[in-house]
Amino acid sequence: MNKKERDRFKKLLLERKQQIIDAADNTKDEGLGFEQEDLADEVDLASSETGQAMNLRLRDRERVLLKKIDKALEKIEEGEFGVCELCGEDIGGKRLEARPVTDLCIRCKEDQERVEKTYADA
Ligand SMILES: [Zn+2]
Repeated sequence: MNKKERDRFKKLLLERKQQIIDAADNTKDEGLGFEQEDLADEVDLASSETGQAMNLRLRDRERVLLKKIDKALEKIEEGEFGVCELCGEDIGGKRLEARPVTDLCIRCKEDQERVEKTYADA
């Protein structure tokens, strides 16, 4: 990844971070200010949950996401951004575009999800 790309992702991440902070500031009950899809990968929002529980959970999710963004920003500074934490391969531009905070390439992510599913079914 060259400097231009790094700068672009850095800007993207900083914008995302600001969005979350803004949303946390001025939305108590009205949505998050960022796309639900951003969360889908991590958490299945169970439809049976009460609104209250959902809100609490989403605030946790925001904290987690902020942490991930900070981590990604650190990686950019260290020149490690865009490299899969498990296999060391490039994560790939398309995936990073969609989820700049991701730690894993799509292959490792799918493996991980398979493992999680296996445990969930057990
Ligand atoms: Zn990988």
